[in-house]
Amino acid sequence: MVLLGPPASGKGTQAELIQKRFGIPATSTGAILRREAKCGTPVGVAANKIISRGGLAPDGLILELVGEWLEKIGDSFLFDGFPRTVAQAEQFELLLNNRSTGLELVIFLEISDGTIRARMLRRLTCSNCGKVISIGRHVGDEGDPCPNCGGKLEARADDTDTALERRMLEYREKTLPVTDFYKRRGILARVDADRGAESVFNDVSRLIIE
Ligand code: AMP
Repeated sequence: MVLLGPPASGKGTQAELIQKRFGIPATSTGAILRREAKCGTPVGVAANKIISRGGLAPDGLILELVGEWLEKIGDSFLFDGFPRTVAQAEQFELLLNNRSTGLELVIFLEISDGTIRARMLRRLTCSNCGKVISIGRHVGDEGDPCPNCGGKLEARADDTDTALERRMLEYREKTLPVTDFYKRRGILARVDADRGAESVFNDVSRLIIE
């Protein structure tokens, strides 16, 4: 499965809920890149410059990371935030064909621009375990420790007005066409994500069970 949607549409939250309820191994290409950046690997340092400006990492690099992750797991998987370009979707299809497998479901989380900004302002990430935290949902205040590991919570470097503007531009130009790609394949389902995580998850669960 794949979860698609604009920044702060709740892809990470839904991926975590799906993984917990259905046991489907999940990964986020954004989280992999942030981990690489934190470890200071050459890939991470280069990617960090792009991410903090709100741009997209190169397709080749993303496909390499995805291929490495797929090697470690079986035929049941969930991607959050990948593919983000039509080129990624095409190359992903080839990669899966070579493994004699394919995608069954692509869920498109739809959300209004106003909600995106409001959610972004409430979003923090744990500097220790990487968990994505929402003020009001997981913690009461930005000074609170991570409820998962006690680590320090920080705002993401790309959750700024300037970076968000660029991320939205990239999203509209490069990621929205990916929804048409999967619509043509007959596996795209839309979910209204302008609601609380539990309501969204009810609809997402129904789609998975169907
Ligand atoms: P996310 O955590 O999904 O919001 O991703 C954070 C950032 O990582 C994005 O704004 C991009 O800079 C980069 N990124 C994540 N996934 C991809 C991808 N599939 N293709 C290109 N860049 C990506």
